Amino acid sequence: MIRVVVAGAAGRMGQTVCSAVEDAEDMELAGRADPLLGVELEQLLGGADVVVDFTQPDSALGNALACVREGVHAVIGTTGFDHEPLARAVTAAHEGANGLRTANVLIAPNFAIGAVLMMRFAQEAVRYMPRAEIIELHHDAKLDAPSGTAALTAELMAAASGGPAPTIHSVRLPGLVAHQEVILGDLGQTLTIRHDTISRESFMPGVLLAVRQVGTLPEPLVVGLERLLA
Ligand code: NAP
Repeated sequence: MIRVVVAGAAGRMGQTVCSAVEDAEDMELAGRADPLLGVELEQLLGGADVVVDFTQPDSALGNALACVREGVHAVIGTTGFDHEPLARAVTAAHEGANGLRTANVLIAPNFAIGAVLMMRFAQEAVRYMPRAEIIELHHDAKLDAPSGTAALTAELMAAASGGPAPTIHSVRLPGLVAHQEVILGDLGQTLTIRHDTISRESFMPGVLLAVRQVGTLPEPLVVGLERLLA
């Protein structure tokens, strides 16, 4: 059994992750950390194999560094924070520079398979239609803009085309969950690649896959669920 602790367990995503872990036959929900529950992540790390973090941009880095310090693998869905200090900490831990036990980290701005495919198709399309822009639309409680998915899509498209990253437009409105359009334009034609997340359950197969595979990543820190898919 993989012992999973969920950080942000009282949040929209965290509650859904807790249910998915409880329903998974090979996992045990070892704890729920959240200020709303009065439980700090550090209290639970001793009983965790993997921490799943869906918190807030200003909490995710500290939580992940605590996991690395304690040698607990981390699956991070929180978006909108700088990955660089975490990358340095993971590398240092794995090089044994500070004598820490080793933990792997998987960061995925989007755990939905449809969003991963959207990013893949956008990378393919931009090679032939280099003029593109991205519109990302989310519920009005989302703290970061642009979304992590849009930022990663733009980065991947720039790498694929060798050109500048597409401009990103952010929409925040009630009634939305998580949506993105990549629009490519050329003489007399446009191509639109659109992904819609209708419910948070869409993220759960990807989250559970990440929990199962985070201990055997090809590198200690991996960004993007696509790295786990064949
Ligand atoms: P949310 O409803 O605001 O939930 C976040 C929860 O984390 C809140 O209960 C918050 O408590 C708690 N929290 C804050 N700091 C914490 C800490 N240090 N330790 C433990 N818990 C802490 O947000 P959400 O809609 O679930 O989204 C969470 C994150 O996931 C966002 O960054 C969002 O962009 C991202 N997300 C990612 C994906 C993906 O596929 N990767 C999908 C959807 C959302 P307080 O309210 O008391 O601060």
